[in-house]
Amino acid sequence: MPDEPRVVIVGAGPAGLVLAWLLHRAHVPFLLVEQLTQAEVGTQPKAGIVEYRTVELLRREGIADAPGAPLAFDAENRRVEFRTPLTSHLLDYADLTGDRPHYVFPQHRLVAEIAATLVAEGAPLAFSHRVVEVGADQRIVVEGPDGGRRTLAPDVVVGADGAASPVARAMAGHVETLDRRVPARWLVVATASPPLVGHTIYGIHPRGYAAHLRRGPQETRFYLEVPAETGADDWPHDAIRAELAERFGMPGALDGVALAGVDALDLRTRVTTPMQYGRLVLAGDAAHLITPAGGKGMNLAVADAVELAHGLIEADDGDDRRLQAYSDTRLPVIWRAQAFSDWFLRILTARSADALDDESAAAFVHGTREAWVRAVRDDAGMAHWFAHAYAGVDPRALDATGGAPQDR
Ligand SMILES: Cc1cc2nc3c(=O)[nH]c(=O)nc-3n(C[C@H](O)[C@H](O)[C@H](O)COP(=O)(O)OP(=O)(O)OC[C@H]3O[C@@H](n4cnc5c(N)ncnc54)[C@H](O)[C@@H]3O)c2cc1C
Repeated sequence: MPDEPRVVIVGAGPAGLVLAWLLHRAHVPFLLVEQLTQAEVGTQPKAGIVEYRTVELLRREGIADAPGAPLAFDAENRRVEFRTPLTSHLLDYADLTGDRPHYVFPQHRLVAEIAATLVAEGAPLAFSHRVVEVGADQRIVVEGPDGGRRTLAPDVVVGADGAASPVARAMAGHVETLDRRVPARWLVVATASPPLVGHTIYGIHPRGYAAHLRRGPQETRFYLEVPAETGADDWPHDAIRAELAERFGMPGALDGVALAGVDALDLRTRVTTPMQYGRLVLAGDAAHLITPAGGKGMNLAVADAVELAHGLIEADDGDDRRLQAYSDTRLPVIWRAQAFSDWFLRILTARSADALDDESAAAFVHGTREAWVRAVRDDAGMAHWFAHAYAGVDPRALDATGGAPQDR
């Protein structure tokens, strides 16, 4: 551990590691503290679809697709299919956005590969160290694997420490935390098998949502919306396979597919505003939680980290205006992603607003879900809006011909 790091980053998720990468390159003295081992951070399966603009950002910052860069993106996801009991619609959103696909790249690989490169370069990453106390004066107490504790007093503490962030807790009373639980539970189902098709499928069924998401040539992720009072143990694998196939309208599609893991996920959303107080700053899930609807969380975390890194680097050179403006710069983009995800969740999820036990309300909710799918299918303006919001492309950044875009 360096004696007096100027910046302490808490958390080695996508936000913390991208920030560490950029500070390391700029020779800003920092320390990253992560409670898990290096092997553990590289095996936490979460996101798997990365937006085009995130990949562009990672390329611009030298983290992807360059000699010596830890990441290489080549597997594109260009299309999404909506399947309801009444209709099926395949949308080529990459085509509608001037060739902006997503890239299939599991988050645990992204984290593992950035961490491994930083460790090989001798960057100060303290795995198996947990932050146990954070003061509003940015003093922090770190506990090592042997139980020994050390107090650090850096200039800046960055909470890149996820949903239960101790850094965010230390800011309580000084910032506002806007929190909402969504009354829906999804089973997150992993298989070590090839995808059923070469694109994303969203099954929009009266009994609930189902999704098929590519994760790799031999890795596929499924989501299955279930009643909140049931968990993974209440769902035998045969029942999960049958229910997914039913909601996709693809009878027998999952027969014989072995399920490698099933977890339950409760959905919640949160925005902390502002995302900084004094010299405590938040990035990624520590600052804002978003449901997986639309796949925005990791992308926001990476973009936060890049903006914050430039603020910290400029502050290290004596100009802290960008660092002071960090929250104001990021919050409009974050709210825009929250707005899209909130809208999309109402289409995907049967339990987004009304309880399913009220038959009439449930049928009403499903009627609106069907109608939104038809609107995206039949209305070119709606399809254009959806494609841009889904792919994470700001239409204002396109030039008049739709070519040579500059994404923010
Ligand atoms: C099932 C699922 C699917 C998802 N799919 C997508 C998707 O397709 N696309 C997308 O963009 N996003 C997706 N997301 C969201 C995405 O995974 C998160 O937004 C992303 O992980 C946020 O990164 P982060 O670095 O902010 O936080 P995290 O990845 O949560 O990392 C925080 C780190 O901080 C560490 N930490 C916490 N407390 C302490 C402490 N006291 N001391 C030391 N270390 C600490 C943790 O161990 C952890 O390693 C998904 C999430 C889930 C759960």
